Parts: sequence; structure tokens; C-alpha cells
Amino acid sequence: MGVEHEKPRQSHQEGGMIRFKKNSTSLKEEFEHLDIRLQILIYAIGGFLYHRFNKFVTITDLFRDDIKSVHHYWRGADVRTSDLTEEEGDAVVEFVNGHFIYGTLVDGKPVKFCLFDERKRKSQNWTGGHFHLQVDPSGVMEIRKVI
Ligand SMILES: [Zn+2]
Repeated sequence: MGVEHEKPRQSHQEGGMIRFKKNSTSLKEEFEHLDIRLQILIYAIGGFLYHRFNKFVTITDLFRDDIKSVHHYWRGADVRTSDLTEEEGDAVVEFVNGHFIYGTLVDGKPVKFCLFDERKRKSQNWTGGHFHLQVDPSGVMEIRKVI
């Protein structure tokens, strides 16, 4: 492994659009493996938060060694919500669900949930409020028409 290999990429440097919990190196590496649609979605959220509120998106959890979780298949990501006010969090939910459509059709209709709002819901693996983002297994993600 040479020195060149360790050259950080712009998006991962301090001041980039995306931040990682505790500046975790493993999370940064995992981000490279994420489904590309999810990477784009996270960049979009980062852009939205920075533009609207001068805040950053912080990734808290990516790969999970659990075959029942979409995190295992690089199609799930968790982002921090504790640094957002309720109104800011609501704006993120509205932004994501207003622009991105989960690809898989259910009964012929698109499902609008690239983002699960887990700010308040306590689950088995609950580690504090977060947004869970995921993309579908078919490789599709649509973007709503902006009018
Ligand atoms: Zn999750």
C-alpha cells in the first residue's frame, strides 16, 4: 500500500459535503461501497442542509453484518438527526420524499420512502434518533418532476 493510495478524496476531507460519525475511517471506506443511488441521495441531502440551514449531513451507520437488514446489502444508511431542530428535520423529510421516489412499484404505484423518519421511533437497535435512508433492490430510483 503506497502513500498515493492514502490520499484523501475531496468529499471526505474536513469541510466536504458529507461528514462521518467520529470522523470514522471505516465509515468513509464503507461509503465507497454504498449503492451509488444512496451516495447521490446523501450528497443531495448534504447540499440541501448546507444551502438551507448551513448544516452538514453526518453519516452514523452504513454496513451492518445482518442479512435481514438492507444495510447488509449496501442499500441502507443512517444519518444523524440530533444536530437538527425539529423544523430542520421535517424539512429534510419533506425534501427527500418530495423529490425522490423509491423505485419498486407496489400494486403498480411508486412508494415514497427513500427516507424513514426514525427520530422518535425506538427499535431493537435503537441508538438515538436518526434518518434511515434506503434504495430498492431493483436498481431503480426516480426523481419527481420539479415544476
Ligand atoms: Zn438504518
